[in-house]
Amino acid sequence: MPKITNLSSKIEKQLPVELVAFIQRAGKTAASQGQGLYLVGGVVRDLLLGQTNLDLDLVVEGNAIELAQHLAKINRGKITTHPRFNTAKLQWNKWSVDLATARSETYAKPGALPTVKPGSINNDLFRRDFTINAMAIELNPSRYGELIDLYGGRDDLEHKLICVLHEKSFTDDATRIWRGLRYEQRLDFQLEPTTIKLLKRDIPMLDTISGDRIRHEIELVLKEEFPEKVLHRAEELGVLPKLSPVLKGNGWLAEKFEQARQISLPNPPPVGLYLALLVYPLTNKETEPLISFLRLPKSLAQTLRDAISIKAKLPSLADPELSRSSIYRLLHSYSLQAVTANSLACESPMARRHIQLFLNKLRYVKPALTGNDLKRMGIAPGPRMKEILQRLHEARLDGKVKSKKGEVKLVEEWVN
Ligand code: ATP
Ligand code: MG
Repeated sequence: MPKITNLSSKIEKQLPVELVAFIQRAGKTAASQGQGLYLVGGVVRDLLLGQTNLDLDLVVEGNAIELAQHLAKINRGKITTHPRFNTAKLQWNKWSVDLATARSETYAKPGALPTVKPGSINNDLFRRDFTINAMAIELNPSRYGELIDLYGGRDDLEHKLICVLHEKSFTDDATRIWRGLRYEQRLDFQLEPTTIKLLKRDIPMLDTISGDRIRHEIELVLKEEFPEKVLHRAEELGVLPKLSPVLKGNGWLAEKFEQARQISLPNPPPVGLYLALLVYPLTNKETEPLISFLRLPKSLAQTLRDAISIKAKLPSLADPELSRSSIYRLLHSYSLQAVTANSLACESPMARRHIQLFLNKLRYVKPALTGNDLKRMGIAPGPRMKEILQRLHEARLDGKVKSKKGEVKLVEEWVN
């Protein structure tokens, strides 16, 4: 007989009271409808690790939508349902909980989306990526808090191992390769030796995954606390070259990512800044295939292109005699994240100083006079007015004029 582990006191200690009350009520409601209810996945892993995780995933043996509708009435939460997947989301002001109907999955071919059938909690745990993510906690009152651990997830947590459930796991779904690297580095675990072998064997299976899904995985990597660790490991295991053969997850990248975090405080760096740094060493020609493979959204793609275009202007930006208006002219048309990436990544201290001057000051400088003011001074709208406004802007940038009065004087001089 395996030992029964009860996690109810951990649940109470680590989850907010409202959520504890909710899952207890949900367990009772499910039982009264003759349905099994379980807490599953990441939250179980993190409860055992003693880490906070407020993303609750529930699995219902029965019908998740029916149960969610019932619970929404009792708890006055907002409910969203997806009948096609038989899942539902409940939301209150602060919390949200996902409910899914227990299912089994089979893969018709590698990388395809799975064929889904209703199933038991055991089926539902078997379809999961790693043993540490394949545990559940019983929520029905008669067994409330009992851990279901069919694949040795708890042992693997203790031994700090990331381990797949079966040898076709990465073949079925190669996005698990990126997921595995992410958990390994986030938790400071090790991929278990057989899992590493399977992972390496199945690296070619990444070709079966669409660019959209890979982009999603990369976004998740970049949301980790230290994405550079995942990228480094991806390089070491030969996964990174699948994105682009020229990408590097080296010490340079780690240093730049750390600086990106420092300047973004108190927020994490935006994805665009991280990505711009990742592709920074690449040429335009090397970046384009990556942009199209990942189907990056327009603005993100522009940020990467801009980051590399600015690189070509660094020799000009490194000129110590460069006027402020020239610095502005060189940089103003590019995305801010691309300019920021260059301030971190460029080699020349002088160019860096100029880029920082742009970011901290120059980009905010505007002339005091507007088009309307000029109209009142008798200048008709048109190319002439545009040129005057631009010259005023330059005079402001270069400190040749400091007040509205001064601007008026300048304009009068030019017009006469
Ligand atoms: P995180 O803290 O990163 O959110 P998580 O474990 O909650 O970790 P999710 O991506 O939110 O991860 O997914 C929830 C659960 O769904 C996982 O714990 C895992 O059991 C399962 N899962 C997610 N993606 C896959 C996949 N590609 N293959 C198999 N199981 C998966
Ligand atoms: Mg999650």
